[in-house]
Amino acid sequence: MINCRRPGDYVLDWSQFVFMPGIREALKQLSTFGLPMIIISNQAAVGKGLLDPAGLEEITARMNEALLADGTSLAAAYYCTHRIEDRCPCRKPKPALLLSAAADFNIDLSRSIFIGDSDTDVQAARAAGCASVLYGSDVTLHPTSPSDLPVARSAMDLYAVITKYVQPTKHA
Ligand SMILES: [Zn+2]
Repeated sequence: MINCRRPGDYVLDWSQFVFMPGIREALKQLSTFGLPMIIISNQAAVGKGLLDPAGLEEITARMNEALLADGTSLAAAYYCTHRIEDRCPCRKPKPALLLSAAADFNIDLSRSIFIGDSDTDVQAARAAGCASVLYGSDVTLHPTSPSDLPVARSAMDLYAVITKYVQPTKHA
């Protein structure tokens, strides 16, 4: 989760997009691993007709622009734009978007980490054979989650938590 949730509402415009405290610095730190960083997100606002695809593209472009100014480059963003009742194959907790991203970027999911803020994310990661880290100040472990699921309470914790799982790229 990169932006703050709007209680009971969707982000429908860049003006409503607020980066989570510390997340820009955290992403910059994580980019030092030299691994592709990809967003996998459910965006049902599109399927509900509240946000058109061009609007979602614009929000994504503005976010990327802000991150690029920090020196952070995201490889891609994959969105499920369907509603729950569409029963699509791509809405998390289904793993289709993770699998697509892995195929497109030649990523080994067994050596990847999915950072999420909900049990839905953890389930999607597990279904894709990928490790997960729960991130958020108020996240709670779901009863079906492994008790050793790593949790980062703040963006500042993300790098330290994830460093335990990733060997920094060694430059010969
Ligand atoms: Zn979908």
